[in-house]
Amino acid sequence: MIKGTCLCEEVQYQYDADIQEVAMCHCHQCKKAQGTPFVTNAPIESQYFTITSGADHLKTFMSSPNKKRVFCSNCGSPLYSQRTDMPETIRLRLG
Ligand SMILES: [Zn+2]
Ligand SMILES: [Zn+2]
Repeated sequence: MIKGTCLCEEVQYQYDADIQEVAMCHCHQCKKAQGTPFVTNAPIESQYFTITSGADHLKTFMSSPNKKRVFCSNCGSPLYSQRTDMPETIRLRLG
């Protein structure tokens, strides 16, 4: 099991499976969203991903018509992105 939080630790999550793949995304949107030259993320299965605390702090920004970026509205930490046409996959931010 993998556990994580946002910067302020209001949002807590766990993933009840193993991370199989790690990707470095250099796309324009990720650079702007993170304020970094690239973003380290992992595609994970949403069925094993649970927000265990602080779900009311989550805010969603639709960066493309079919892609949402989810972050903590208290501290601004990016948490994951998800495509509306591929809801079974979440791209978890690994920072
Ligand atoms: Zn936070
Ligand atoms: Zn990207």
